[in-house]
Amino acid sequence: MRKPVIAGNWKMHKTIGESVDFALRLNKELAERSADTDVIIAPPFIALRPVAEAISSSVIHLAAQNLHDKTEGAFTGEVSARMLADAGCEYVIVGHSERRILFGEKDDFICRKLRAALSAGLRPIFCIGETSEERDAGKTLAVLGRQLKGGLNNFTAHDMGRVVIAYEPVWAIGTGKTATPEAAQEAHRFVRTAMERAFGKDISSVLPIIYGGSVNPGNIGDLMAEPDIDGALVGGASLDIESFTGIIRF
Ligand code: PEP
Repeated sequence: MRKPVIAGNWKMHKTIGESVDFALRLNKELAERSADTDVIIAPPFIALRPVAEAISSSVIHLAAQNLHDKTEGAFTGEVSARMLADAGCEYVIVGHSERRILFGEKDDFICRKLRAALSAGLRPIFCIGETSEERDAGKTLAVLGRQLKGGLNNFTAHDMGRVVIAYEPVWAIGTGKTATPEAAQEAHRFVRTAMERAFGKDISSVLPIIYGGSVNPGNIGDLMAEPDIDGALVGGASLDIESFTGIIRF
């Protein structure tokens, strides 16, 4: 039985004060709940430490939105896995389509970042997904296969025990166009089967594979009813306390 994972990616939204305020409100909303769902929030870098302090005795987990693959050095503006762990992060998002498309990140760099995250004890949320052109050309599963192979190059079953995979069709991110539950399930099934082939059933059967792309309180229930969808990576709808808690309570 896999535990649901609901993660909020705040992207470049919220100041430190707004982030802490949201985290405290979320904490209050979830106080009565048992930890039957892993709830994760990913504020901007500068808010990580204050948010970590605000949620220190709660069921909420903290994620960063990005990291660099090196431990330290002359990389102006970058943040390492070690720094994120020190700030209180347990998770880090890696390979988000905005990083791939807007910042030119390729599979080999993403692979090094995934490794860096694991080396620092962080759990990576590894994002993959096809563009609308790739989907229209019937290449969805080939793209997912390539991204999995490139990102997880030389990974072992032991490494995979710490990874969360997020299937995020690029055309669904921030567009209001959610993948149908059936289309998302087909992609998730493909990912789980590929992971079984590469790492064995013991790993693939417990691997959290979450869906991202215009998730909201109205569509999360149908998505979660699919057998291989274990949760959601939520952008826009994670910025508002009512919609995010609505998703958590799917
Ligand atoms: C995302 O950025 O990962 C995302 C899924 O965004 P949205 O929920 O806004 O589509």
